[in-house]
Amino acid sequence: MNAIAPGATIGILGGGQLGRMTALAAARLGYRCRIFTPERDSPASQVAVGTTVADYKDRSALAAFARGVDVVTYEFENIPVDPVTFLADIVPVRPKPDVLAICQDRLKEKDFLNGIGVATARYQEVTSAAGLARAVRDLGRPSVLKTAVLGYDGKGQATIRADSDLDQVWTQLKAARGVLEGFVDFTQEISVIVARGLDGTHATYVPVENQHKNHILDVTMAPARVPPVVAMKAEAMATHIAQKIDLVGVLAVEMFVERSGGVLVNELAPRPHNSGHWTIDACAVSQFEQLVRAVCGLPLGSPERHSDAVMKNLIGSDVDQWRDILKDPGARLHLYGKAETRPGRKMGHVTRLSPRKD
Ligand code: AMP
Repeated sequence: MNAIAPGATIGILGGGQLGRMTALAAARLGYRCRIFTPERDSPASQVAVGTTVADYKDRSALAAFARGVDVVTYEFENIPVDPVTFLADIVPVRPKPDVLAICQDRLKEKDFLNGIGVATARYQEVTSAAGLARAVRDLGRPSVLKTAVLGYDGKGQATIRADSDLDQVWTQLKAARGVLEGFVDFTQEISVIVARGLDGTHATYVPVENQHKNHILDVTMAPARVPPVVAMKAEAMATHIAQKIDLVGVLAVEMFVERSGGVLVNELAPRPHNSGHWTIDACAVSQFEQLVRAVCGLPLGSPERHSDAVMKNLIGSDVDQWRDILKDPGARLHLYGKAETRPGRKMGHVTRLSPRKD
């Protein structure tokens, strides 16, 4: 299998901070990155050799972009699959479009996971108010209704409680298809990031613990404070999923740890993930470098951590604390170059390391 050697150009669909940190990792290995995004002055384009600013549906822009790169990857999963399939006829796209198609639809994702023996919350497809009423009868209250597609950071979901009016909940979801999930009584939310190379080898990071604020990731603790048996189960699940989905790239697996010690998968993201940012500062090889290595057909690096880490997101005006953060000599500050601060917008993150405890 021929490697795409350093000096080549990686195309990245999406211009956000994940693309930016991927492009920075790529540069260190001697690659160039070109970005395709509808957005001007995106975080990724600031650190790339070129950017195509166009709509994802613009076929001639996509074709020209494909001719200028050696391989394509993507940095978020809400890109329509069609343009990605179109690109894949011209240039290798990794992970392959099928992976994107599964991960951007909660129902396909859950069907896939259950089909390969990975447990999720109980769920039912919902396509109408009457269907919601039926599903709630089966799964009970509380339960969680989510849009099948285009949901993220708690957007496009509603918790159904004892007093919820189901007609109203369905209307407010504003979606043709939804998934109702049984409510999971979890002690922790954890995630595992796994990289898989073109040759089928994989590198799995230690499970980390995620705390959210207003549905947005706030803090990631690495490693997660879970018993070794839970950590091993979570890692094994992530590795199994990566293999079965035939991943080439990086996959984040978000999971719930049940009070009983069981582990359920909540969702998949076929790209570097916010809960893996700590790997830049605490691991031999970061999630971003693993993505570069995987899509270029290089050997993967070690996911081993040399330190424990706590990563804090800087959301909205949190970013104004940058001066104080820099006064802490051990704090590693990462800013994404976003000109406009908006509430709820991820502006950067800070990672603090501590000696590794086993
Ligand atoms: P998601 O968009 O699927 O990541 O969900 C956002 C957040 O809602 C999760 O991080 C959980 O805190 C909560 N949540 C989602 N699904 C469930 C569920 N089935 N049971 C309990 N809490 C959930």
